[in-house]
Amino acid sequence: MTHERVLVTGGAGLIAGHCILQLLEQGYRVRTTVRSLTRESEVRAVLAEAGMVDGDNLSFVAADLTDDAGWSDAVDGCDYVLHVASPVRFGKTKNEDEIISPARDGALRVLRAARDAGVRRVVLTSAFHAVGFGHGHVDHLFTEDDWSPLHGPGVDAYGRSKILAERAAWEFMADQGGTMELATMLPVAVMGPALSKNVSGANHLIQQILAGRMPGYPNVWVPIVDVRDVAAAHILAMTSPAAAGERFLLASGPVVAMKEIGAILRGHFGDAAEKVPTRRIPNIVIRLAAHFNDEARSAAADLDYVKKISNDKARRVLGWEPRPASEAVIAAAESLIAKSHSTS
Ligand code: NAP
Repeated sequence: MTHERVLVTGGAGLIAGHCILQLLEQGYRVRTTVRSLTRESEVRAVLAEAGMVDGDNLSFVAADLTDDAGWSDAVDGCDYVLHVASPVRFGKTKNEDEIISPARDGALRVLRAARDAGVRRVVLTSAFHAVGFGHGHVDHLFTEDDWSPLHGPGVDAYGRSKILAERAAWEFMADQGGTMELATMLPVAVMGPALSKNVSGANHLIQQILAGRMPGYPNVWVPIVDVRDVAAAHILAMTSPAAAGERFLLASGPVVAMKEIGAILRGHFGDAAEKVPTRRIPNIVIRLAAHFNDEARSAAADLDYVKKISNDKARRVLGWEPRPASEAVIAAAESLIAKSHSTS
């Protein structure tokens, strides 16, 4: 039993929720932030349904990434901070600053407050968007040494928010971090057990496929990681001495063809996956649809490109052992089906 205290920012989110569950399980005292304390009971209920242990060791503080209020209370007495919260919104945005400012300035607020409170280490949730986007179809094995260009092809406002926030965090550490340490996490598309009815990040893709909202599959490949493994990596990076000052790419393994995701779902769920499409959509159709449709436009940019991504560093330095992508896909689907049937 440890008495160390960890702040996890954004407790209503998917990755943060799994971090909280695992930290409590390991005996940590956990504090989390929500934008308004009116959400505390809802978040507690969601975590309880997911099997939370020692809920008495979890407390809540109100703090918004766009405001200084609350952050010094949030970090007070904490040994570690997992800064997970950040706006997750893909595609075109009228005012990019609505995403970039909470991501970058919010990360700086958290780092400043953490340093002033004597926090030992912050683990920041960045994203593969800060590594392997905007490079075109290069034949390259992406590692933690790579950074996405801010304005490369396929880099949207969300991608820029992740690049700018992570860069700002490393710059802060170099100039003003003092003795505090930082590690950053770079997950690819996160799938796995949904905690609430809100569908986060890449679980959307599974929802679309399950519901038959896609007529077929473009010839694109998806990098996948299970949310339970993402949470485990955050906790390993929090305490592993060798993780200080390092970035970690989190991927289950090689990218998975979108058609293969459909095959995994059909293979596992049988009749319950009857709406899951079976056919591939020819490239020419995707390219034509790209003139009218945002999703087709983003798929068109990645047609036929099999990205190579290394998870070697996280395995080697953190001793991280991710599940196969198929388990993330199946767990995501199981939870989405269960949540769609539940009345709460
Ligand atoms: P999520 O469920 O949408 O969680 C996002 C969290 O950020 C929510 O708790 C949200 O709070 C909070 N947030 C957003 N704007 C905020 C603000 N202005 N002030 C305070 N909190 C704010 O998504 P997630 O997948 O768990 O994402 C968590 C982190 O992982 C993010 O940093 C994301 O960039 C990163 N990531 C996600 C993926 C993925 O595929 N899901 C992949 C790579 C990296 P509310 O509930 O109040 O909105």
